[in-house]
Amino acid sequence: MCSSDLGGLRYGLSSMQGWRIEMEDAHSAVIGIPDQKDTVSWFAVFDGHAGGRVSAHCSHHLLDCIRASDEFTCSLQQEHSLSQEEMMEGIKKGILRGFLELDEKLRKIPEVASGEDKSGSTAVGALISDKYLIIANCGDSRGVMCVQGKPALASLDHKPSNEPEKERIQNAGGSVMIQRVNGSLAVSRALGDFEYKNVDGKGPTEQLVSPEPEFYIKEREPERDEFLVLACDGVWDVMSNEEICSFIGHRMKIHENLETICNEVIDTCLYKGSRDNMSIIIIAFPSAPKVDQAAVKIENELNATLEKKVNEIIASKDNDIELQMVHQRLVDEELVGLPPGGGLASKKVFIEDIYKKLLPEIGRAHV
Ligand code: MN
Repeated sequence: MCSSDLGGLRYGLSSMQGWRIEMEDAHSAVIGIPDQKDTVSWFAVFDGHAGGRVSAHCSHHLLDCIRASDEFTCSLQQEHSLSQEEMMEGIKKGILRGFLELDEKLRKIPEVASGEDKSGSTAVGALISDKYLIIANCGDSRGVMCVQGKPALASLDHKPSNEPEKERIQNAGGSVMIQRVNGSLAVSRALGDFEYKNVDGKGPTEQLVSPEPEFYIKEREPERDEFLVLACDGVWDVMSNEEICSFIGHRMKIHENLETICNEVIDTCLYKGSRDNMSIIIIAFPSAPKVDQAAVKIENELNATLEKKVNEIIASKDNDIELQMVHQRLVDEELVGLPPGGGLASKKVFIEDIYKKLLPEIGRAHV
């Protein structure tokens, strides 16, 4: 959809409705947030459920609610004179305040207040300043920072069966059944979801579902930091943190368009079996992998091999074979140079294109 370059950061993002009937994900990307240096950035992914109203609202207003806090704005402006501890105290307080304030505002949206709209949304946001990376997570979307090829910082999902979450839910008079809050909601922290936030005598962060984010902080290391990934559970359902770091790191050696890489991740997740909406933002730091001619050569050889194999398989069946069977036959081949973390699933679009070119008629009927 777009990519940009400022302060040495580049980003790309992509989203796909996938197999779901509705698209409830939303995102935001702001390089150069107001009142700050133009290198301070904010990125976030929101995964809505039971409708898209809350997630859409969050993508438009969360940063403004956070910025409204003086603690946040001042600590960020003084990052070079404050100690890490002092700065983080202000930032965390400000972000928490922003989440709580936004949740109160959401409750007052007429359709939400009337109970007609019961939607909720997870939120994973990343603030990138000169010196730090701060991930704030509420729910089961996830942020993963890749440093020298490996996940070095990753948020943990708020699942109802996690011990501290379960304790809060039970203290609020609820229960965790089939790993869901009251047997129903699969995530234990979210914005919105006011059906789960009406327990008398309990504060906003003590309810069955809490809007409180958890923080993950890393000092930036310009020589080592490669890229940050924010994505919703539709991606993480089928990709581990390690796999996504390997896959994206590999694709960065093949081409430099981050939006294309985002699309490749999402296509790969679709073919790995994800049934959900999918959204992803990749933020590349100056030390992200660069296009590498040796990797490009291996990729070209792999593509040539795939093209040859697909031709052979189709010819062996007298031009009468479904795409699914072609793919099945390729699984059994020992292919060299498949992208790590993505495997054959990441080449499925390429395989499909060759198939359609060779068998345009069957291609139309069966794909
Ligand atoms: Mn989802």
